[in-house]
Amino acid sequence: MSKPKLFIPGPVDVAPETYAAMAGPGIGHRGKDFEELYASIQPGIRQVVGTTRPVFFSTSSAWGIMEGCIRNLVQKKVLNLCCGAFSDKWYGVSQSCGKEAEKIQVEWGQAIDPESVRAKLAEGGFDTVTLVHNETSTGVLNPLREISEVVKSFDDVLLVVDTVSSLSAMPINYDELEIDVLLAGVQKAIALPPGLAVFVTSDAALERAATQDDRGYYFDFCEFAKNHEKNNTPSTPAIPHLYALQERVESMLAEGLEKRYERHRTNNTMVHQWGERHGFQLLPPAGFRSLSLSCFVTPENLDQAGWIKSIIANHQIAINGGYGKIKGKTFRISNMGNETPDTMREMLDALDCELPKFLT
Ligand SMILES: *Cc1c(COP(=O)(O)O)cnc(C)c1O
Repeated sequence: MSKPKLFIPGPVDVAPETYAAMAGPGIGHRGKDFEELYASIQPGIRQVVGTTRPVFFSTSSAWGIMEGCIRNLVQKKVLNLCCGAFSDKWYGVSQSCGKEAEKIQVEWGQAIDPESVRAKLAEGGFDTVTLVHNETSTGVLNPLREISEVVKSFDDVLLVVDTVSSLSAMPINYDELEIDVLLAGVQKAIALPPGLAVFVTSDAALERAATQDDRGYYFDFCEFAKNHEKNNTPSTPAIPHLYALQERVESMLAEGLEKRYERHRTNNTMVHQWGERHGFQLLPPAGFRSLSLSCFVTPENLDQAGWIKSIIANHQIAINGGYGKIKGKTFRISNMGNETPDTMREMLDALDCELPKFLT
């Protein structure tokens, strides 16, 4: 059965080469073949993350590590920076892990103000901050550098950053930013099938985790660090996903990271210009707009559901009709992963072709 090509902001379209790589030989994970596979991915994925530190592989979606961060790191109180569906939910997850949590909540579509973080942390009592770099539900790109500088100015406060829909789409330099945990699921910006997360931890994060006696096992950061020494993972990993990650990282480096970022910028600009031509407003304000997806406000005179359905039916292309509480009120178009100006043009042409039928 033919399925539409995904231009939704995750999961995104996966290259045939990536699927092919997943069919690599079955190997045991406690042996030399696996250790070689694990080690072979390290140099490339470290370049993507901008670090010399180990990159850990978790067989889970991003939420595994997002919850893991709370369980490994929060001892006093966590500050969750909330500006959309994913960042808001992190506050709920902090609470459901039994942690003391506070949040800074801004309206969906707005970015987090670093000065509000400074003011909140100055109240004292916090030891961890969570930030979603690129809030996929609203298309907001938060000021990561400014926020990390604020958090770094407070002693013993760890910064955890979700880069699910930004890592590899734009430059992120983990080492320079001095953040404590950077994590990403692979089915968005990295364009793998869902089922794996990658993450990096600072020494401070590992030291904190080591003193946390109820951090559990599956997402225990200390277990990841210990197993990394043997090029291995704590429990049986999704080996096909690691073949896929190896293939994708090689492809990224072959393209060149700078070129890859530039391609994303070009594709993103194409969508913005398309929106401008139609008079569609982006939800986030200028200066805080994602480079990997575009979130538009649905105009009153557009039958959005009908439009999206007919794009799928007639062009086998899927865009998204909004997420969470702004479902139906916004629509989102992804330019993550392997898209090119040609594939973006094809998608925008399909949108244009169906649009007049659903505007009143
Ligand atoms: C999709 C997404 C998540 C959650 O990913 P899962 O794969 O569902 O765990 C978290 N954060 C951001 C920014 C996302 O876009």
